[in-house]
Amino acid sequence: MADTAYQQCIHPDCAATFEVDRVLTACPKCGALLDVQYDWDRLPVPRWADFEQRWASKGAQGRGRLDFSGVWRFRELLPFYGNDDRIVTIGEGRTNLQDARELARQIGFDPGNLFLQYEGLNPTGSFKDNGMTAAFTHARMVGARRVACASTGNTSASLAMFAAHAGLQGIVFIGSGKIAYGKLSQALDYGTLTLQVEGDFDACLRNLRDIVSEHPELGIYLMNSINPFRLEGQKSIMYRILEARDWRVPDWIVVPGGNLGNSAAFGKAFGELRQLGLIGRLPRLAVIQAAGADPLYTLYHEQGLRWNGGRWDHSLRDDLWAKNIAVRTVASAIEIGKPVNLPKCLRSLELMDGVVREVDDETILEHKALVGRYGFGCEPASAASVAGARLLREEGVIDADAEVVCILTGHQLKDPDATVRYHTGIDMMAAQETAPRCDPAGRASNRPIPVPDDLAAIVRVIEAH
Ligand SMILES: *Cc1c(COP(=O)(O)O)cnc(C)c1O
Ligand SMILES: [Zn+2]
Repeated sequence: MADTAYQQCIHPDCAATFEVDRVLTACPKCGALLDVQYDWDRLPVPRWADFEQRWASKGAQGRGRLDFSGVWRFRELLPFYGNDDRIVTIGEGRTNLQDARELARQIGFDPGNLFLQYEGLNPTGSFKDNGMTAAFTHARMVGARRVACASTGNTSASLAMFAAHAGLQGIVFIGSGKIAYGKLSQALDYGTLTLQVEGDFDACLRNLRDIVSEHPELGIYLMNSINPFRLEGQKSIMYRILEARDWRVPDWIVVPGGNLGNSAAFGKAFGELRQLGLIGRLPRLAVIQAAGADPLYTLYHEQGLRWNGGRWDHSLRDDLWAKNIAVRTVASAIEIGKPVNLPKCLRSLELMDGVVREVDDETILEHKALVGRYGFGCEPASAASVAGARLLREEGVIDADAEVVCILTGHQLKDPDATVRYHTGIDMMAAQETAPRCDPAGRASNRPIPVPDDLAAIVRVIEAH
């Protein structure tokens, strides 16, 4: 099976191909990103019914081990692994599509038209596990000794768990002062080597890429989303959405954009499904950035940068990157200035007739509170998708009767500080006694109410609310 999978440069004028078990993070000939590709003609054509049946046989061990995973249940759609024994899985991707009727009503959608794909239900609480299981499977195929990533938090949490599970040394590079404690605590607890670099995310990734290419003797396998195998696993988020809808394609997929791995993976997933004849049409794609970290918005929406069949204008990107614009947002998971998957994201936007928007931090936190209030919950970055869907609905870009799926990328408990700060005005990260107690300003804030130790007074407060 393995010879039906290979790696290929995404640049149409190069399109060089490489063996599936080579460790590459860019095309050795031209430096462009790589895709994992398949000879679909020589592979069995999967049918939706085959995937459905797997629910019945799922189990944590034995023959159902792969069906237990929401990624590998769809293994015919990412057939690079050669043989089943190589697959590293812990039952990731057991996530679901929620019909968010109350939230829909609140933000201008018809109930029954707004759905949340709840990726916070993954083992480490973010969608990253979908990609890690695939990249660890590839790391095992190539005999990696160490695995490493630069991370705004969730990638490191996921890498740390899979490294502990697979018995490989994990190394994470974290920018100083830029990580939510829920995520840092995971990396530490899973026993991974945690390096706090004095610099931002982009500096972490640059250091790590240099170490990987200049010190091959360390045997470090790179787990960031420039690794095309991670994106293969992330395609499964789209398969699960279709599965939950009896394989009906929604009208819109709305996703927060940071390093743009998800948007890259989603376009690839739908392009392949159409090529295989499993779907007839594609949903549209909306990528939502934080206003404080919006390179894609600047390039795509303001400067008109397009994929252009793969011959996109590199100078627009290079000029923006040269400015080294500092990024700052409460949505730390998307606080990224130079997204590595920009070209692939442009490709997805072209394929899926996409749009890009940005939302500010206040709007992000308000929509995070609304996602919580109506019964789901997510971390700040995830709420950008919901805020973006609302914006596009208000603009009339999304029709009133459109079926819209927002990706909730990470769990509510990832970043409790941001949540408590929003609802109380108290900054838990500052020294507790000296923390300023200001009134929470957010429109959806739910402030704790001080009450005396007195039954009648407590009853009065309850009745008043
Ligand atoms: C990593 C991450 C993102 C950004 O995803 P990209 O694929 O890099 O665009 C968004 N939300 C959460 C919670 C994340 O962990
Ligand atoms: Zn190339």
